Amino acid sequence: MNNNFIGKVILAAAGPGDPDLITVKAVRWLEQAHVVLVDRLVSEAILHRYVNSRAEIIHVGKQSGRSGSTPQPTINRLMIEHARAGRLVVRLKGGDASVFSNIFDELSALVNNRIPYEIVPGVTAALGAAAYAGIPLTAREYASGIRLLTFYKSDVIQDKYWEELAQTDDTLVFYMSGEMLDQAAALLLGKGISQDKGIAVIEQASTPMQQVTISSFAEYDRKLKGRTFQSPALVIVGKVAFLHERFRWFKNSNSGELYFKPIHAFVLSAEPSVSE
Ligand code: SAH
Repeated sequence: MNNNFIGKVILAAAGPGDPDLITVKAVRWLEQAHVVLVDRLVSEAILHRYVNSRAEIIHVGKQSGRSGSTPQPTINRLMIEHARAGRLVVRLKGGDASVFSNIFDELSALVNNRIPYEIVPGVTAALGAAAYAGIPLTAREYASGIRLLTFYKSDVIQDKYWEELAQTDDTLVFYMSGEMLDQAAALLLGKGISQDKGIAVIEQASTPMQQVTISSFAEYDRKLKGRTFQSPALVIVGKVAFLHERFRWFKNSNSGELYFKPIHAFVLSAEPSVSE
């Protein structure tokens, strides 16, 4: 390693799944990295294809509320320790580095410890899923805007805001909400969302296991209620959901296989590098 190199952290992301959806800039950093700290929603295919063979790959996957996740302080410590040792660290997340990620904690830790860093944007799941499902999110006359939301537990959206979400013509995109879909639908219906608005659930978007399910709110009980979805799943609400039927181009898979490895397959590999 070049002794003059001052350690640095690159906060980058790999896109939603398809290895071709990573940015050229992220790839350039992965070609030079000494250490890569990887989230669960980054596939083996991406690591294999783009990370140089000398780099140390450390899996630090997290999954909201699941046991076995790598705690955020551990991730922060790994970034700081490796950068202080003069290494080029790439912190590689799924989708885009800043959308529903812990980048705020990580940036705070880097700034507090005076570690140089850069942020590289990526294709967030909303955009990847929309493209691969053939759903133009702001199609003229269908929607005038997009709201990126999450509803992984019931108190993250206030009652008052559900009213607005039920009434708006904006397309709503829910991250980390597959397991809460019945509750979200009931709340939107309770606040009077139009029965002819649509819901698209896109599982494992942009991977060979992608599966898209479309329903109107009127048909929710028959088509979606009580269903479980493969992780990761994204939910798109709005009139644009029905455009899938007209513009779909990517094959729907019915395999039910998981593209991304479950969390427990990863986390132990992070432990030996941690020094108290
Ligand atoms: N930073 C990521 C989001 C992390 S939160 C991004 O910008 O995309 C994790 C959530 O993202 C998942 O629960 C799911 O809702 C969504 N997600 C990520 N990848 C996905 C994929 N390939 N297909 C469907 N949803 C995905």
